[in-house]
Amino acid sequence: MLAISKTSKRILAVIVVFLSTFTIILMTASLVKAADLGGVDLNGFCRYRYMNSNAIATRPDPNNQGAAGWKCKVPNNTGGVDFKEFSDANSSSIVEVCNWQYNRANATAQALNFGDPYSWRCYGDVIPTNQLIRATNINKNYYPGRKWINDTGYKLEFQTDRNLVLYNPSGKAIWATGTNGAADMLSVQTDGNVVLYGGGKALWATNTSGSNGVYFAIQSDGNLVVYNTNNRPIFSTGTAGGSIGRFSAAADWSRPKYLETLASWTDFQWEDAINSAADINAINKDNFNFGSFGNITSFRTPVTDMGIIYRDLSTDLFGNEKRFQFTGAYISDDYYKVTGGVYGYHGGIDIAAPIGTEVKTLVSGKVVLVEMKPWGMLTIQDANGENHIYKHLSQVLVSQGGSVTAGQKVAKTGITGTAVAHLHYEITRKEYIYGDLQTPTKKTKEEARQRTYNPFKNYWVMRHI
Ligand SMILES: [Zn+2]
Repeated sequence: MLAISKTSKRILAVIVVFLSTFTIILMTASLVKAADLGGVDLNGFCRYRYMNSNAIATRPDPNNQGAAGWKCKVPNNTGGVDFKEFSDANSSSIVEVCNWQYNRANATAQALNFGDPYSWRCYGDVIPTNQLIRATNINKNYYPGRKWINDTGYKLEFQTDRNLVLYNPSGKAIWATGTNGAADMLSVQTDGNVVLYGGGKALWATNTSGSNGVYFAIQSDGNLVVYNTNNRPIFSTGTAGGSIGRFSAAADWSRPKYLETLASWTDFQWEDAINSAADINAINKDNFNFGSFGNITSFRTPVTDMGIIYRDLSTDLFGNEKRFQFTGAYISDDYYKVTGGVYGYHGGIDIAAPIGTEVKTLVSGKVVLVEMKPWGMLTIQDANGENHIYKHLSQVLVSQGGSVTAGQKVAKTGITGTAVAHLHYEITRKEYIYGDLQTPTKKTKEEARQRTYNPFKNYWVMRHI
């Protein structure tokens, strides 16, 4: 479950434990008396924090007797004669040390003698259901060695190998940023972004900046979520229930998204663009080189997103680029078909190709239909239950009931059941293994849309995620 429960939100609204400027705001089912967790290892914290085994903790201002009065020093030179003091505000609050040392987001620190580092002890409440990190006034920065464990046993650890890893209660890693050897600071920022930095450069981020007041939740259900101020999730790792995350966060973040400008398109825009002369036909005229087959032998630089999708999709299907077939675009008035007494809108796209051109499958899956008459059909059902349908084939290279893997050659193009050699490629919902043209009754455009997926959009989604 992505959202925090209503009960938890209500509790959050009334119980906000403000420990210090540098600690974490958290929520608990009820406040209980703080338990004594044990002593403070200030030197150990400084060594973790600055990755320096000679780091030490000091209290430079004897008048500052608070938990935040402590600083770390690291030697400037080998041998540790001169020490460089780190005086950034977060450097060594004892509260932060308690959080680090006892894996408690809500720890507090108290001392019998403020000036005596050995008299400090850490105290903590019960482990919260959801641990929340909220950057209200300043960025919350964390360093390798820091861990958070919630009540259900999920552990988020900013490891000393610099990777940020989420473990399920069995100890299995289910999500990671893949920043091994590189990240040196995790920052929950006041601008709403959660960022891993390495050497001052952003290595990974939730890309949620612009939403001030967000909070980062390490949830009991195993999901890591960034919520905005309206408690709406704006980022999540998809690990609820302890399943392995959909992606390695860093790999996903660092890879440019495929044709990002299309992310905001409506279904209508997609459909319109596929059928539009400006987006496809103009490309065909202006940006293709024509070869001996009367088709396009190579693309010049595609100038529109549809041109790029067309080029990439046909390359994935054939291993090289093929020509757009003007007699078939997706669900358009121009392509209402009456074929052999069967009525319907054209639910796929057509790509011209010489007879015998080898066709690859875009997806792994099961061969659910091979039927050479009347249309030379092959249907491959993928793991999501979507049918990838190829028509007008001269030959099918796989058997019905068998399995295929993405990229495998599965068929050869032909002219079966049509007048011009081309490949018809269509993607339909699970129950329509014959494609959209399969009933002798007229269908509305809306019915056609409900049966088939827009092949260009489907391909874009496949590449984009
Ligand atoms: Zn077609």
